[in-house]
Amino acid sequence: SLSTLASLAATREVLADHGLTAKYSLGQNFLVNDTIVQKIVALAELDGADRVLEIGPGIGTLTMALLKGAAHVTSIERDADLPAVLEETLAPWWDKFTLIQKDALDLQLSDLNAQAMPTKLVANLPYAVAATVVLDYFQRIDSLQSATVMVQKEVADRMAAEPGTKNYGAYTVKLRLYAQPAGRFPVSPNNFFPPPRVDSAVIRLNRRPVTDASGAPLDANVVRAACTMADAAFASRRKTLSNSCKTYFAGRGAQGGAVAQHLPELFERASIDPKRRGETLSLAEFVQLGQELLAVQA
Ligand code: SAM
Repeated sequence: SLSTLASLAATREVLADHGLTAKYSLGQNFLVNDTIVQKIVALAELDGADRVLEIGPGIGTLTMALLKGAAHVTSIERDADLPAVLEETLAPWWDKFTLIQKDALDLQLSDLNAQAMPTKLVANLPYAVAATVVLDYFQRIDSLQSATVMVQKEVADRMAAEPGTKNYGAYTVKLRLYAQPAGRFPVSPNNFFPPPRVDSAVIRLNRRPVTDASGAPLDANVVRAACTMADAAFASRRKTLSNSCKTYFAGRGAQGGAVAQHLPELFERASIDPKRRGETLSLAEFVQLGQELLAVQA
C-alpha cells in the first residue's frame, strides 16, 4: 500500500487498475499534489480525538491523510464504483473508517453514529453541491465545530464576504449565522487530475455561538427565522428591503401573506429602515429581524 495517492502517477495507476476514469458529472477532480493535502490537514488542525466527516473521498487521497491524524473518519461517497477502490487504498486504516454510500445531500442524522458524532468536516467538495452542503451540515449537525473545505474560488468569496460588498448575499448571511471564516489559501487547477476549469480555494469556517445583543445564546428557531429574513431581503436584489420582503412573503401562501401585512410593524420594532437594501444589513440586524418575524408569526 502507498503512503500517499497524491501524485499524477499514483492516481492514474489506481484508476487504470480498476478500469475507471474520472467522472465529470460527479465533479471528480482528484488531488495530485501532496503539499496541498498536507496544507488542508494543517488548516483543519486535527487532533487525535477528532472524528472527521468527509464528503467525496474519491480514491481516498485526502481520506488517507485524515485517517493518520484523527480518531475516526466517516466518508460519504455517491459513486458506486469507488467502494471497491477504497477497500484497497484504505485497507491499513479500515478499523477506524466508515463509508456511507449515498448522496451527501441525502445524509440523515441516523446515518451517523449517535454516540460519536463528527467534530470536523474536511473535504475536497464536489463543486455542484459544495455551498449547499456546508450550510446544511452546520445547520443540522450540532457536533460540527469547523469545516475545512476545498470549493470553487467564487464560493469561498461568497462565504467570506462582508456586508456592503458584491459577494454578500443571502447565502453569506445564512452561513455566517452559524460559522465564521478562519483561514484560507488558493489552489490552482494544475493540482488536480483532471484539472477543473475554475480556480479553487480551501477555506476554514469555525462554528460561532449565535447570541443576542446582550450575549445570551439564541434559540435555533431564531437563527432559522433570521435565515428566512435573509432569503426575503435578497429575493429581489435591486429592491428595497420592504419591497423585496413583501414580494417574497406574498408568494408564500396564507402564512406568508399574513407576514407580508405585518412587515411595516416588523421593521419598526426592529428599528430598521425598510428603505435600506438587504446588502447593507449586518448579521446582528438579520438576527433582530428573525426575532421580530417569530413575534409576528406567534
Ligand atoms: N477527495 C478526493 C480528492 O481530494 O482527490 C476526491 C474529490 S472530488 C473533487 C469529489 C468527490 O465527491 C468524488 O469522489 C465524487 O464522486 C464525489 N461526489 C460527487 N457528488 C457527490 C454527492 N452528491 N454526494 C457524495 N459524494 C459526491
